[in-house]
Order: sequence, then C-alpha cells, then structure tokens
Amino acid sequence: MAITPNLAPVPTRAPAVATAGRAGTPLGTDRVRLTGGLLHDWQRRNRVVTVPHVVREVRQAGNLDNFRRLHDPAVGDYRGRYPFLDTDVYKTLEGIAYELGREPADEGEAAELETARDFFEESVALIERAQRADGYLGTFYQSPQSPKEPWQDLSWGHEMYNLGHLAQAAVAASRQLGDRRLLDVAARFADLVVERYGPDGEPAYCGHPEVEMALVELARETGDRRYLEQARLFVERRGAGTLEHTIFAADYFQDAVPLRELGSVTGHAVRMVYLAAGATDVALETDDDALLAHLEHLWDDMVARKSYLTGGIGSRHSDEAFGDRFELPAERAYAETCAAIGTAQWGWRLFLATGRADVLDHVERVLHNAYAVGLSEDGAAFFYDNPLQRRPDHEQRSGAEKDGELLRRAWFGCPCCPPNVVRWTSELQDHLAVADDDSLTLALYASAAIDSPALDVDVTTDLPWDGRVTVRVRRAADGPTTLALRVPAWADGATAAVDGEPVSELPADGWLRLTRTWAPGATVVLDLPMPVRAVTAHPHLDAARGSAAVLRGPLVYCVEQQDSPAPVDDLLLAAEDVPRLVVDEDHPWRVLRGDLAVAPPSGDDPYPPLGATAPTTHRAPVALVPYALWGNREVGAMRVFLRTS
Ligand SMILES: [Zn+2]
Repeated sequence: MAITPNLAPVPTRAPAVATAGRAGTPLGTDRVRLTGGLLHDWQRRNRVVTVPHVVREVRQAGNLDNFRRLHDPAVGDYRGRYPFLDTDVYKTLEGIAYELGREPADEGEAAELETARDFFEESVALIERAQRADGYLGTFYQSPQSPKEPWQDLSWGHEMYNLGHLAQAAVAASRQLGDRRLLDVAARFADLVVERYGPDGEPAYCGHPEVEMALVELARETGDRRYLEQARLFVERRGAGTLEHTIFAADYFQDAVPLRELGSVTGHAVRMVYLAAGATDVALETDDDALLAHLEHLWDDMVARKSYLTGGIGSRHSDEAFGDRFELPAERAYAETCAAIGTAQWGWRLFLATGRADVLDHVERVLHNAYAVGLSEDGAAFFYDNPLQRRPDHEQRSGAEKDGELLRRAWFGCPCCPPNVVRWTSELQDHLAVADDDSLTLALYASAAIDSPALDVDVTTDLPWDGRVTVRVRRAADGPTTLALRVPAWADGATAAVDGEPVSELPADGWLRLTRTWAPGATVVLDLPMPVRAVTAHPHLDAARGSAAVLRGPLVYCVEQQDSPAPVDDLLLAAEDVPRLVVDEDHPWRVLRGDLAVAPPSGDDPYPPLGATAPTTHRAPVALVPYALWGNREVGAMRVFLRTS
C-alpha cells in the first residue's frame, strides 16, 4: 500500500474539542504529551494491541468490504445486520489519525503503525470512491439489495449518525495529520444534509443523535457556520415527534418533548448523552445561557439519581435505556461502554462551558471505572454492558462463556464499543488541560509534559494508585500567571505546597488557583489523601439498600469470588472493617487486603420474618480489586456492593 506524503505530522494540532471555554481553551494534541503512568500505559496498549486487534476484526467482519462491494459486486452481499457499520471504520480511523500523528516509541510501535497506516490509506480510498455524486454516503442504503431508499427511515437508518462519525474522523485526520481528504468527503455529505434538512429543508432529524457534536466540530474546523446552524436546528427540533416511534416509544429517541423541556435524562442512554454533548456544544457556540442552564440541570440530575457508583449509565437492557430515578440495580446495570464515553464527552464540554470542577470529578470517575472496565487488561477483549454484580449464574450480554470466550469478548455483531474505545483512548491527552494567555488549568491528572502560552510544566503523578501530583515549571511567561489545579471532592484534607511552602487557602469550588510570577524550576506538590473509604446508597436506591461499597481515590473496588474463600454474597462489610483494609503496594492492581465477617443465609426462606437476621459464623480473608480490572482472571461471581448486615 502506497504511503502518501501528506500524512506527515503538522506542527500544531488542534484537540478533539477545539473551542474557547469559560476556564480556557483545550491545548493542542502536541502540547500535552503523556510521559508515564496509567493513561500513558493505556495509550501504548491501544497502539500496539487494541488498534491492530480492531483493524483485524473490522476487516474480518466485512465493514470495509461493504464499501468495496459498491464498485465490485464480486465482493458479495452487505455484511452485518445494521445500517451503521460504516461507523466502526470511521471510529477506528479517528483513533488511527491520532496514533499516526505521534512519533512511535520503538520499532514494535512503528511496525504496528505501518499496519494501521495501510488500513487508513485503504479505507480513505474506499470511502472517497463510495461517496455518491450528490454527497450521500452510507453503504447500507447504497447497496442495490437495500430494502429501502436513503432517507426513508430516519428513526432507524442511522444515516446522519454515520455522517457524525465520518465527520469526527475527518476532523481528527485534518488536525492530526493535515490530511483533508476525509474532510472533503464529510463536508460534501454535510452539505447534502444542510440542503435536505437545513433552514429551508424538511424539519427532520436522525433517530440516533451524534451528528450534532460532529457538525459543531466540523464548523470549528472549516469555519463554515452553516454546520453549527444545522446542529442547532437538530437540537431544537428534537422532541417534535416527527420520528416514527417503532419498536420503542418516543422517550427512547428523546423525541417525546423538546430537550429544553426534558425533566430528566431519558431513553436510550448513548443517544441521550451524545445529544446532550452536541447540545452543550451548541449552547457554548451560540451563547445560549438558558440551554446551558438546562443541560446543567440534566447533568446534575443524572449524576445524582441516574448514575451508578462507577459512573455507568443505563439500567434497562430491553432498550439500553435510563431507568427511573434511583432505578440502579447492580447486576442489571447496562452501563454500556459507549455510554461511558458519551458521558465523558458531555462532561468535557460542560466543563468547558461552565468551568465546574465537580463535572470533571465525575468525568474522572467515569474514566477510571465505567470506561476502563470495558477493555480487558490485555487490550483485546471488550465488555458491552458493565454490571456491578455478577451472580454465579449471571448471564451477561458481553457473553460470559459464550462461543468459548470468557467474560469480555473479542468482537460483537453490534461492535460500537471496541472502536469507540480505540478513538477515546487515543484522544485522552486532549482532555487534560485548558489554558488562556495568563493561566494554565489542570483538569484531569496524568504524568505529562504540558506546554501552554503562560506556563510549560511537567506533571508527575501515579494516580489513581497514589494521590501525589507534582507540577514542575519548565518555562514561565513574564509577570503573574495562574496555575489552577483541580482538587477532587474525594480528596478530603488535601494539602498543597509551592517550593516547600504550604499553601494556606484551599478552595471551596474545587480549584486551587496559584497566581504569582513563576520561575523555571518552581515546584507545586498537591497531596490528595486516598484513604480506603466506604459508601452506602441513598435510601431511595432500593437495589443497593443495606449494602456498602469500597472506594479509594477515584477507584471503585469489588470482590471477585476467587479472592474470597466464602461466597461473595455472604460477606459483610462493617464500618470498622474499612480502615483495616490495607493497600498491597506490591500488587500491580494495588488490591486491598483484609478480613470480613461471613454471614450465610440461615435458611432457604426467601422472605424471612421482619427482624430475622443471618448471624455471623466466622471471619474470612478477602482481597478487593479495582472494579475496572475485574473479569481478567477466571469467571466467577463479583460484587461492588457488599451486605452490611
Ligand atoms: Zn457501544
């Protein structure tokens, strides 16, 4: 496969969300370089394992052949059941664009990147060739065997969802590689959508939101405000009930009431958070304070009443949807990996629009729990749904023991999550810091070299394993500038020091702002206490009432059966046990070791009389592992929430 010369990295590369927010502007991809620690390891694993794995699976599943067959009938019929399988190619390309924009660390990485580059080149050529003269692109409806014409089924056709992922891949290729070939394809398709569904067109919208945030980013990249206006129209029109509500009711599609009147996040969880992310982009770019305030209300309600402890969302399997407030059963958590990514995408935009530190606290929780759990430790197997409990006989959609695979699976018939993990992992550095001319704000923590107009710094941290964050100034602009550090709400008793001098005033709003004339070599040490702690559940959260879960820093822990001689369902967690759980610093997962009381049920009566208790029989040694890492060993029961009595 020929390597085209226009794939050389360009000097300044705009990040995934390129806009000025209240707290500053996200720094360019080449301005934040991960230098070590967990996120760095995730990115390396992504580059050498997950990207090659996903490329192989996408090829094998026929997603590329669906483009090829439009010009070569010998390739055979459309592969796969769904009209959105083009997006798995697009999401993979988005991630690959980032990886090709980075220097490989060694020969192994360089070899994997060459394979990824071949896939990129082959895919771009097929995509360019597949686009119709009028700009339409969607291999499902372009197929001669398609049961319907394009645009006949906006509820389930996913045609603009396809455009959204194409546009995001195109923007990434343009920004990371200076390669505008996909951008030209995406713009032509977007122009067709503007023509059909723009201000003078049919007032319709896609059954699966996603195109909204992509159109805003396309506008940011091209400077063409028609795409922003189109995104605004899609956000404002939604809820008019124009979709055909087949299979599921209007709520599923967020089509029962306008977004501005929606009382609480509802319906299909991925659809909801993608829509909200796009709407937040629209509010940010159009200075729509009323819309932004409503989105903050929806976010706060979701975080407080519709999110799992892990940050996962969606508790109804039948329609992959949010439940009612506090309807959060642990073993029936759907918590799709894509929904975690969508929550992080929404949260990042909401932070940009508001500057709120607590929004980032939740993004951090999602990142280290609901998101991280979706991928196996070896980087080549995926959960689709992410429950917080696995009973010994639990059947998980991700396919425990199905097809000979244990727990996480190599691929899915609906493979939305794996390539979503690829792209989001490749973009993590774009979500660590924002800056303006006289301030640098550290939003999420990872070891990184960060260059900004006011300050160049080196951040060193072993989070989430250890709570110390060291920031060393490498270069400072003349005059006073501000270094702002997020102090997570979980870090009760946090302290900070500048060049050894303790900082007296710690913040109430989650931001430690240090304004002074900085000199190279100046060092800030932020200490975030990470004692083992435990939480119970809101009294209305019936599914977790009478139980408690263990956390440390941003990490949620769980007990897997193999780490307990007693059935995990019989373990009791008491308040006095919590401080006695000891971090095993020699274990790569920093497991927590201790012993817990064991209280087996006293009989088979499913409904014992009120007041009856199951007495403790003995204590047993247990180890708790980070929830994100469960399911990497033998298959067995698992619990996040343990009984308290
Ligand atoms: Zn998914």
